[in-house]
Amino acid sequence: MSRFLSGRFEKLVAYVPGEQPRDKSYIKLNTNESPYPPAPQVIEALSLNEINDLKLYSDPECKNLREALAEHYGVKPVNLMIGNGSDEVLSFIFMAFCDKAIGVSYPDISYGFYPVYAELYGINKNEIPLRSDLTINASDFQNTGTTVVLANPNAPTGICLSVSDVEEIVKSNANNIVVIDEAYIDFGGESCIPLTKKYDNLLVVQTYSKSRSMAGARLGYAIGSSELIEDLEKLRYSTNPYNINRLTLLAGEAALKGQAYFDKNNNEIIQIREYSAERLKQLGFLLTDSKANFIFAKHPKFNGEDLYLKLKSRGILVRYFSKPRISDYLRITVGSVEQMESLLSTLKEITEDA
Ligand code: PMP
Repeated sequence: MSRFLSGRFEKLVAYVPGEQPRDKSYIKLNTNESPYPPAPQVIEALSLNEINDLKLYSDPECKNLREALAEHYGVKPVNLMIGNGSDEVLSFIFMAFCDKAIGVSYPDISYGFYPVYAELYGINKNEIPLRSDLTINASDFQNTGTTVVLANPNAPTGICLSVSDVEEIVKSNANNIVVIDEAYIDFGGESCIPLTKKYDNLLVVQTYSKSRSMAGARLGYAIGSSELIEDLEKLRYSTNPYNINRLTLLAGEAALKGQAYFDKNNNEIIQIREYSAERLKQLGFLLTDSKANFIFAKHPKFNGEDLYLKLKSRGILVRYFSKPRISDYLRITVGSVEQMESLLSTLKEITEDA
């Protein structure tokens, strides 16, 4: 830290993204990326003309993409705000709807960026413990008097809340915003987007990073009432109106034409997840009921860090969290059949050798 950094950030501990190693090639199952390439329509959309047009600023209104997304989800363009990844969308949401007086509630075990944004913006944190089986007790999030942020499915457990549970939370927090972060919703959960038409205090956030195979394009969005979107747009225009680059805008629009391709891929991921989960159970692992594109698993005889390091030394990267209650778990992205076969045979070797 330099002597010039504002005292506001003295206590800030930055988010640590999953490793993106360049030293050697790993079977990379650590950041929940898709094993499939983007839809063929995306590849066709990115022409040389568009590359030449990079000399021009991108559309600050993201008009075409908003219209295409609005049609896709049966909402209006005014109900959509577009961000540079859903991380940026979440950042604007924390900035807009929380502060010292309006705190934020989220589960004690959830997406690691929530406490970082809370710290960054000087927001009071109300971390609500998961039950001992790592499920969310929905009634703990009713009448909080704070902004509520829930990843659904939750990360890194993959466990889903039902839409009716979310609706109860939204109803009981009528004077506060409820944010449902649906980064992993397309792998077996039910989206709360339809509820945004009924409740003006609900924001649903989604991303192109997982189910649409476009993590590197950095594209996410929030859906909610036009008033909430207007608030977010005010902050976006006060930060970076050109937050989405031209290529990503085009790619995002084109991707919506590849729905059949994504549905097929997502179904495949679900099947590979279920098959891999069964095989892991046969090896003695205990798993949460994940509805995401990752598995959250621990082995009663192994320390999580030890397993993570053993896998890494054998060329397989998974995610390990050194956090109380989950430090024995590994979060394993569901990759291709071949990648999962390598993982399973390596874990078989490691667990049988012990
Ligand atoms: N929410 C959750 C729960 C996540 O796990 C992630 C991925 N790290 C994100 C949001 C952010 O994804 P992106 O910025 O790539 O859209």
